[in-house]
Amino acid sequence: MSKSQEPIKNWQDTENIRIFDREIEYRKVYRPVRYPRLEFKSRDLVVILPRGYRKEKELLIRHQKWIFQKSAFIARVLKKSKELHLDFSTDLSEFKEKSSCIIEEYAEELKVKIAKITFRKMKSKWGSCRGDGHITVNSLLRLLPEKLVRYILFHEVLHRVERRHNQKFYGIIKSKFGDIKAMEENLLAYWFLLEKHFFKGGEAFKTTP
Ligand SMILES: [Zn+2]
Repeated sequence: MSKSQEPIKNWQDTENIRIFDREIEYRKVYRPVRYPRLEFKSRDLVVILPRGYRKEKELLIRHQKWIFQKSAFIARVLKKSKELHLDFSTDLSEFKEKSSCIIEEYAEELKVKIAKITFRKMKSKWGSCRGDGHITVNSLLRLLPEKLVRYILFHEVLHRVERRHNQKFYGIIKSKFGDIKAMEENLLAYWFLLEKHFFKGGEAFKTTP
């Protein structure tokens, strides 16, 4: 196919590359971008390339350490996710009520105002907080343990204090919840479980080098 006939978007295929002792599959996606980039979409490595770019293997080798560490991490979390289970005993209205109370509790603690709370099933994030104080919560969180729900809700309310994910932001989270890394790993393990149940192959969390 000549360059000009190549569709700009949605043209993709899967290839493999050997990195250290691991055979790693990746998906190539051509987009109208200036520079190539790598990201993990949930558990899949995606290479986003400008049209006509053919040297992705070199790019992958340049980032092999990151790819290797990331894929080992994902394998570990996937294994962990097999030992977890989703708790379907809380219904949505119960979850909404409880979460709203927790959000109010945190808003009081952090002395901030929350304008509105919305619950929605989301495929790519646990929650969000807009600049105007409107918090959106992923309703799938109702299937997770309360400790993790609290961790997410606190994160969103804390955005009323600090917009960015900077040192100050994570410092406050750490002083309240302790081991952030363990919490994030747990959340990712549950995310893999949710993906399997609800949206195989859909959108997912992104990580870039
Ligand atoms: Zn955030």
